[in-house]
Amino acid sequence: MPYTLPKLAYALDALEPHLDARTMEIHHGKHHQAYVDNLNKALESYPELQRLTPEELVAQLSTVPEAARTAVRNNAGGHLNHSWYWEWMAPKAAGKPDGKLAKAFEQEFGGFSGFQEQFTKAGMTRFGSGWAWLVIKEGKLSVLSTANQDNPLTDGFTPLLGCDVWEHAYYLKYQNRRVDYLKAWWSVVNWGNVETRFAKTQR
Ligand code: MN
Repeated sequence: MPYTLPKLAYALDALEPHLDARTMEIHHGKHHQAYVDNLNKALESYPELQRLTPEELVAQLSTVPEAARTAVRNNAGGHLNHSWYWEWMAPKAAGKPDGKLAKAFEQEFGGFSGFQEQFTKAGMTRFGSGWAWLVIKEGKLSVLSTANQDNPLTDGFTPLLGCDVWEHAYYLKYQNRRVDYLKAWWSVVNWGNVETRFAKTQR
C-alpha cells in the first residue's frame, strides 16, 4: 500500500488543554487513517497514479480518470490536509508570526489580528464540513475556505496554513461551539512551519 499514516511529532495529549487527547487519538488514528485506506483502495487499479504524492494528486485532479476522481479528491485531499494539519500545530506554540510574514500580515490584513478575524470568519461561515485557509493567491496572501476535503492546490493556490473545521476536529471537547475551537486553536499554531512555507513562495 503506497500511502501510509504519518506519525505525529508530539504525544496525543501534547496539545492539551486546547485540543484534547481523545479528539487527537480518534482524529489521527481513525479519521486520517480512513482517508489513507480509502486512497489506497481508490488507486488499487491505477498503479501509475500510486507513484504520485498526495500533493500531486490534488494539484492534477482533472487528469485523474473520472471513475476514481471523486474518491481521489476526497481521500488524497483528506490525507494531505490532515498530514499538514498535524504539522501546523505544536505544543507550547502560543505565539505570533515573525519577520517577513508578520510584515505581510500588516500589508494585507492591517496586522495579525486582522488576519485572525478573516480566518475565523472563513472557518465560521463554511457551512457543514471543510477547512479555513491562508494561501498565496495571485502572489498575495489571501484567506478562503474550502468544502469537504478540498485543497486550495486544486485551484492553483499555495496553502500556507489550514484549519480543519469538520465537527470531528472539535465536537468531543467543544460540542457545537466551533468558534471556541477556532479561538483555542491559535494557541497551538506552529508559526515556524507557516513561515517556512511563506519563505519558499518569496524566492
Ligand atoms: Mn479532520
